Amino acid sequence: MSSIKSIGVLTSGGDAPGMNAAIRAVVRACIYNDLRVFGVMRGYQGLIDNDIEELHSNSVSNIIQSGGTILKSARSMEFKTQEGREKAYDNLRKRDIDALVVIGGDGTFTGARIFGQEHNFPIVGIPGTIDNDLYGTDYTIGYDTALNTVVEAVDKIRDTATAHSRLFFIEVMGRDAGFLALRSGIASGAEAVLVPEVRTDFDQLEHFLQNGFKKNKTSSIVLVAEGDEIGGAIKIADKVGKEHPEYDVRVTILGHIQRGGSPSAFDRVSASRMGLSAVEALMDDQKSIMIGLANNQIVHTPFNQALKNKKALNPQLLEMTKILSI
Ligand code: ATP
Repeated sequence: MSSIKSIGVLTSGGDAPGMNAAIRAVVRACIYNDLRVFGVMRGYQGLIDNDIEELHSNSVSNIIQSGGTILKSARSMEFKTQEGREKAYDNLRKRDIDALVVIGGDGTFTGARIFGQEHNFPIVGIPGTIDNDLYGTDYTIGYDTALNTVVEAVDKIRDTATAHSRLFFIEVMGRDAGFLALRSGIASGAEAVLVPEVRTDFDQLEHFLQNGFKKNKTSSIVLVAEGDEIGGAIKIADKVGKEHPEYDVRVTILGHIQRGGSPSAFDRVSASRMGLSAVEALMDDQKSIMIGLANNQIVHTPFNQALKNKKALNPQLLEMTKILSI
C-alpha cells in the first residue's frame, strides 16, 4: 500500500497548450484512485504563498480543449532560495499534501530535484514546453500544437511571398533548440532551416538562394530558430539584404502566437497519458522522475539524467531539408 493519500499539481515556467489536459488527467486519476488532489496556483510561487485549493472532478470539466493553464504559471525567484523552499514545504505539510506533480520545463525540474532532495519529498514531472528540448521524451506537451501553429502561419506567409517573389526569413521560438524550426521547416516546405545546433554556413545559404532564384523559384522561405548563433531572423535578413539588394527581403517573427491556441489531438492524448502515469508512478512510490514518451510508450527518466543530457536534433531530418528543397 502506498503512503500517498494526497497529491498537489502545478504548472511552471513557460505555458504550453495541453497543460490543461495534463492537469485534468492528474485530477481525474487521483479521484479515481481515492486520493485527494490540490491545485497550486502560479507554479512554485503559489506553494510559497499558500495559494492552493482542493480540486474535484468538475473543477477540470471542459478544459481539455483550452490552451494556457487554469492553474496559471509563473517564474518564482523566491523558490530558488532555501527560505522560499522552506515556506513551500511548510504549506504542503499544513495541508497534508504528500507528493507533487509538476508540469513544466528543465527549470521546473531543476527546482523539483532540489526541493525533493532537501525535504525528501516525492515529485514526478511532466514535460510541458513548446520547445521539445527535454532529454528522456520524444515529445513534450505543447510541441505538436505549436508546430501546427507555425506551419499554418508559414503557409499564409508563403501566399504573399509568392505573389511578390519575396524572400522571407521567419523566426520561430525554441530558445537554444531547433526542434520547432526543423520540423515546421520540413512540414511547410521551407527552402532552408537555420538552427542553433548547427553553425550557419552563409556561403552555402547564398549559393542555395541564388540557385533557387535562378531556377525561378517564385518565393523563398527560410526558417530561423530564435537561438541561432547569428542572432535571429532580423540580423540574418539584414546581412543577406545588404549583400544582395536584388532580393526583396522580409522578416516575420511569429512570437507568442506559438504558445496559444487549442491543443492538438496529439498533445491532448499525450498529456492525458502522462498525467495518468504521473499519478500511478507516485502511487508506486517513485520519485524524482520525469514521465516521457519514447517510441509511443510511457517511460520514466530520473530528473538527474533528464537534466544532465541534451536531446539531439535528428541529423537525417536536417539533411532531408537540403535534399527536398532543391
Ligand atoms: P520553459 O522551458 O518553458 O522556460 P522552465 O520550467 O524551464 O520552462 P524556468 O523559468 O526556467 O522555466 O523555471 C521555472 C521555475 O522553476 C522557476 O521560476 C523557479 O521557480 C524554478 N527553478 C528554476 N531553476 C531553479 C533552481 N536552480 N532552484 C530552484 N528552483 C528553480
